[in-house]
Amino acid sequence: MQYIECPLCGRALAETGNVLRCEVGHAYDIARQGYVSMLGGDASKGTADTPAMVQAREAFLGKGHYSAIADAVAEAAAAALADGAQGCVAEVGAGTGYYLSAVLDRVSDRPGIALDISKAASKRAARAHLRIGAIVSDAWDRLPMRDGAVAVLLDIFSPRNPAEFERVLAPGGVLIVVTPTPRHLGEIVETLGMLVVDDRKDERLETAFEGRFERVTTMLVERRLELLHDDVSAVAGMGPSAWHAAGDLSARVAALGEPTPVTLSVNVVTYRQISFG
Ligand SMILES: [Zn+2]
Repeated sequence: MQYIECPLCGRALAETGNVLRCEVGHAYDIARQGYVSMLGGDASKGTADTPAMVQAREAFLGKGHYSAIADAVAEAAAAALADGAQGCVAEVGAGTGYYLSAVLDRVSDRPGIALDISKAASKRAARAHLRIGAIVSDAWDRLPMRDGAVAVLLDIFSPRNPAEFERVLAPGGVLIVVTPTPRHLGEIVETLGMLVVDDRKDERLETAFEGRFERVTTMLVERRLELLHDDVSAVAGMGPSAWHAAGDLSARVAALGEPTPVTLSVNVVTYRQISFG
């Protein structure tokens, strides 16, 4: 509670029964499954992960295929927190809470806030770790965190809202961003009709953060995965590409070798606010 605030008016929230309420009277229900819904009425829910996508994500991540990413993020977060920044760990577009849980396992004294626009994802995130509070929220709106409440903010394959990221980060806090390189899943993107990573993504990321954040460290994480057909279907079904994948996905997957070698390739980048040096 000490880290969050009313996303509509920025006032403190108090818990009464199963409701969080600010002094103006904006009220947010705490669901039976443990998450709080703070989605505005005009939110673009069309982009939220469906229960099927969340299930695919949980199945795929549960097999440990992306554990190298979770390890690198946890390492970067632990290093940043060792510098003494006060506040919680929060993740935008947290999905099932997989990466946030990995960070909380590594830093035992911090609470975590999982934000996601998907109710199905927030339901999972609320159960993913004892120290996670899950909030259904739109990354493009005002975030439900207080100014300077966040010591480490995670953004892993997720939307970026630089102005809000800057507002919620604590002095000395860090933003950890994970983006795919053009090689990521390169062996299967075309076969599966998945979104192709833009070669200039890295450049566009820098432009979006210009004037607010500066890059401190960059870690390239690359692994060779051996995926079974079920894994390939899950990875195609869990991300934004699920919206673009053709209906004949299962036929395309069946045409692949089993196991299929696939490259995991992402950059784990740590940023600091320029204003705090
Ligand atoms: Zn309010």
